[in-house]
Amino acid sequence: MASRDPVADLRRIAFLLESAHEATFRVKAFRSAANVLGGLDPEETRTRAENGTLADLKGVGDVTARCVAESLAGEEPVYLRRLLATEDDDLPVAAVHLREKLRGDCHSHSDWSDGGSPIEEMALAAVEVGHEYLVLTDHSPRLKVARGLSPARLKRQLDHVATVNAQLPEGFRILTGIEVDINPDGTLDQEDELLARLDVVVGSVHSELRADEAVMTRRMLKAVANPHLDVLGHCTGRRLPTKNNDRAHARTSSRPPSDFDAKRVFAAAAEHGKAVEINCRPDRLDPPKRLLRLAVEAGCLFAIDTDAHAPGQLDWQRYGCERAAMCGVPADRVVNTWSAEELTRWAAGH
Ligand SMILES: [Zn+2]
Ligand SMILES: [Zn+2]
Repeated sequence: MASRDPVADLRRIAFLLESAHEATFRVKAFRSAANVLGGLDPEETRTRAENGTLADLKGVGDVTARCVAESLAGEEPVYLRRLLATEDDDLPVAAVHLREKLRGDCHSHSDWSDGGSPIEEMALAAVEVGHEYLVLTDHSPRLKVARGLSPARLKRQLDHVATVNAQLPEGFRILTGIEVDINPDGTLDQEDELLARLDVVVGSVHSELRADEAVMTRRMLKAVANPHLDVLGHCTGRRLPTKNNDRAHARTSSRPPSDFDAKRVFAAAAEHGKAVEINCRPDRLDPPKRLLRLAVEAGCLFAIDTDAHAPGQLDWQRYGCERAAMCGVPADRVVNTWSAEELTRWAAGH
């Protein structure tokens, strides 16, 4: 039997584990083994698999070594086969159709801010998901807990993205972007000149979420009217308890939606041609369905974004598609069903 690519199999396993919310250490075991073997001469990998000495390598364990041996023998690793067999595929048809139309993702983080993986790794996962583009949107300076990028670091990131793009498979590219904080006064937390250089700008509220309705409405209206802002990120800021392993954490991190006049904010978004994000994270699912229906009625554009902080999370778009389909979001009003050219032209046109 022809042998398979063991590194690709290990990466695929890591991706599926992450997508299924498995514990980080398990994901890391596969990803670090993939990195170790990716840097090794394939002949050495083969010899070690034959001698049973793969697990002697730092970063390769018994389980990952077994997967590699199976791959090289031309068999789909048992571990991978089990994961594929238990993948949840009970998405409604309308949601599946919408998911098939998505060509990219407009909100993602790398280890330059609070994401867990390098830009290259995020990009390769986006290719695997079937995307044509991934907008990289690391945080802005104000968000210090998330290592928000200073103007100098953002400039360095832009240079780095250009280098990475030159090495990525044809037909895919990283688009530049930012998740910029909407300051309490409604201004955006990055230099205008830099915001103007970026392909896509997501603007989000991350502070003073309990402000009263009038204050929050004014803040959001001002941000939506700012020509640099393209997508209004997770508009209510709510946090949901998740089914994740750590229940104590879920309790402390859940948060009610903030108060604002959604009708006015969505009307402004529609008027200025800005997109309302449908945030797919299971701990956000923002906006709530009632508000999502309101935004549909208001005539808004949408972006179905994962807000991924790790490669496997790029697979979470299905959660947003499910809600979008349920609330009657038309596919042609979802900006990431558009090509990279259409998307960037729209973003530059505000
Ligand atoms: Zn955010
Ligand atoms: Zn984010």
